[in-house]
Amino acid sequence: MNPPSRLKPASWLVAAGRPSEPGEPLNTPLVPASNFLLGTERAYARDGGTPTWEALETIVGGLEAGRAVAFASGMAAVAAVFEQLPAGAGVVLPDDCYQGVVGLALAGAEKQRWRVQRLALEDTQGWVQACAVADLVWLESPSNPLLTVVDLATIAQAPRKPGAILAVDNTFATPLNQQPLELGATVSIQSVTKFIGGHSDLLGGVATTRDEALWQALRRSRMLSGATPGTLEAFLAVRGARTLELRLQRAQQTAQVLAERLEQHPRVARVRYPGLPSHPTHATARRVLKGFGTILSFELYGGAAEADAVCQRVQLIRHATSLGAVESTMERRAAIPGQEHLPPSLLRLSVGIEDVEDLWADLDAALQTAW
Ligand SMILES: *Cc1c(COP(=O)(O)O)cnc(C)c1O
Repeated sequence: MNPPSRLKPASWLVAAGRPSEPGEPLNTPLVPASNFLLGTERAYARDGGTPTWEALETIVGGLEAGRAVAFASGMAAVAAVFEQLPAGAGVVLPDDCYQGVVGLALAGAEKQRWRVQRLALEDTQGWVQACAVADLVWLESPSNPLLTVVDLATIAQAPRKPGAILAVDNTFATPLNQQPLELGATVSIQSVTKFIGGHSDLLGGVATTRDEALWQALRRSRMLSGATPGTLEAFLAVRGARTLELRLQRAQQTAQVLAERLEQHPRVARVRYPGLPSHPTHATARRVLKGFGTILSFELYGGAAEADAVCQRVQLIRHATSLGAVESTMERRAAIPGQEHLPPSLLRLSVGIEDVEDLWADLDAALQTAW
């Protein structure tokens, strides 16, 4: 199979990870197996993987231009990266960061496994300096839920402490909009639960790297912790990945339109979307990202009550957490325990693949009637 350097991503997503021998199924089969007949390297699935996990690793690894390790969830992939740190390591995390990652980092800091420092995502010079001293530099871009875009092109080129890991949570961008390894990062993380799965029906994660020793170490962590992907989940993720490019293009076109219209809406105080010229990191987004993504957040004139009312009134848009699926979902982020620091009326909208006019009608009606 041609690597994606010769095949465009949309074609790679369709063609990669398929069987190739005459008589084999056209599609990647679902292989439910814990163990295999002895005689090759593959004896037991937790150590050696299964053909279904490998298809997912081939697809995502090719897109990210590295070698991938599939995990049971995005957080399992994150935990495997943290697992690589030496005792007492220095970790630098963004101020706006996926709360599961913050929770994991702080839990480890409490047990004195590592030290955690937080840094504003926009502070490019601060990150460049952090690269020289930290053992793990953790970036997430665009960030959740403020959609800050990091100048990864600059930070990933900064000199790093020997052996340090620059990890990028690439979930919001997807490997189609941002390629952290190409820019110089050590490892890129995807929550497969989101865009790659794309249908809100599985949990999965992938870590991808070009560093052979780190790749081996991540596989070893998966083996020792047992954080292995489910077979059905890996099969569904492969199936979801086939349409990733189509879904992403459609949803991010729609997201741009909705963001522009929301910005003009009399009940909306502020819209955050990297594709809007008003976004604080729009210029960076234009430079670093191939597309502005499908997530936007907006604040209302009014407070938590009005925002909750909008969530209750939307019909086509579902009132649910998570993101990256075919269906649009929306929630008030500050309602989530641990997220109280966010503006009380901030709604995060994950745009799906529905018709843009139906989505706008739904949003507009909910905004008109909510107060
Ligand atoms: C969902 C998510 C994760 C965690 O992934 P799970 O599959 O839920 O474990 C990590 N980072 C980001 C940005 C996410 O959106």
